[in-house]
Amino acid sequence: MAVDSFPARARKISANIGAHYVDKARKLPWRIPPGGNLPDPYHVWLSEIMLQQTTVGAVKAYFEKFTRRWPTVQSLAHAREADVLAAWAGLGYYARARNLHKCAVQITEQMGGIFPRKESELLKLPGVGSYTAAAITAIAFGERAVVVDANIERLVARLFAIDTPLPKGKAEIRTAMDAITPKKGAGDFAQACMDIGATICTSKNPKCPICPVQKQCAAFAAGTMEYFPVKPPKKAKPLRRARFFWIERHDRILLATRPPRGMLGGMRSLPDDGWAAGNDGHARPPIAGRWMVHDNILQHSFTHFSLAVDLAVYQDEKIATDRDSDIWWPLDNIAEAGLPTLYAKAVQWKLKEEI
Ligand code: SF4
Repeated sequence: MAVDSFPARARKISANIGAHYVDKARKLPWRIPPGGNLPDPYHVWLSEIMLQQTTVGAVKAYFEKFTRRWPTVQSLAHAREADVLAAWAGLGYYARARNLHKCAVQITEQMGGIFPRKESELLKLPGVGSYTAAAITAIAFGERAVVVDANIERLVARLFAIDTPLPKGKAEIRTAMDAITPKKGAGDFAQACMDIGATICTSKNPKCPICPVQKQCAAFAAGTMEYFPVKPPKKAKPLRRARFFWIERHDRILLATRPPRGMLGGMRSLPDDGWAAGNDGHARPPIAGRWMVHDNILQHSFTHFSLAVDLAVYQDEKIATDRDSDIWWPLDNIAEAGLPTLYAKAVQWKLKEEI
């Protein structure tokens, strides 16, 4: 259903979504209630980077932790990258944290600590893609911009029954979102659409009876809500293997600092067999010793592959290593090590196994 042929319907959708937001906006720590002053661009940028591929529920606590510790973009720029990565631990997709720090440094050192207002300028910043640039422009600066995240994509595909499979269908969805985005209040409108997509027009069992745009929804009229958005067939993920090494002496375990580039770069982790460089790891331990190997203690899913992990354990009071990047970390304080989720899961497995 082409949106251009129904301008009155587009206006009605826009008005209903706007009115719904006035009463039903979600209260989120980075938001200003509808119609209020514009929020701090630093808060909008930080929340949008955190929300990439991560749920609102998971992001709230991290947003509050970051803004307590680094209340301005300048303070974040002056932090050590290792501290930012450790504070990010558990949120996943760690390239985001490295780009976050790089971006804060760029804004502080080259732009006097002021975020640019234009999408084209925002797009030049590390870690800022077209969605994030549009969201910052609309929400932080109140400028008209067409914002399309995964929730909005689903909502709009259903409203207009856009049946071109993704990713090709994205262009049509953007055109439709453009047609319903108002000239004023694009930030509130985008956030209203995000809210409806996240809480009403959900992937499974959308709550159409309470939807403010039910009367304008083509998918609802046809009873085909869950058919949209049309996704390409899923490819099976390859399974790769890794081995982690638990090296323990005097109630401390050995943690390594990963090389700055590559997967989980710059983060602390258990020593491993180099699985991140591609395909399977080599399974060879970093030091000679009496190793006990536990096969397949966990599987972890990444975007393009799954990883099956073995854990090799070596406990001896006399172990010594001479690698600069190694740290003997006290086991009773392991939660503070800032381990990425994958390694934190392996640690939890080992600690439970000992009970
Ligand atoms: Fe989504 Fe249902 Fe509303 Fe259509 S009527 S937009 S399918 S919740």
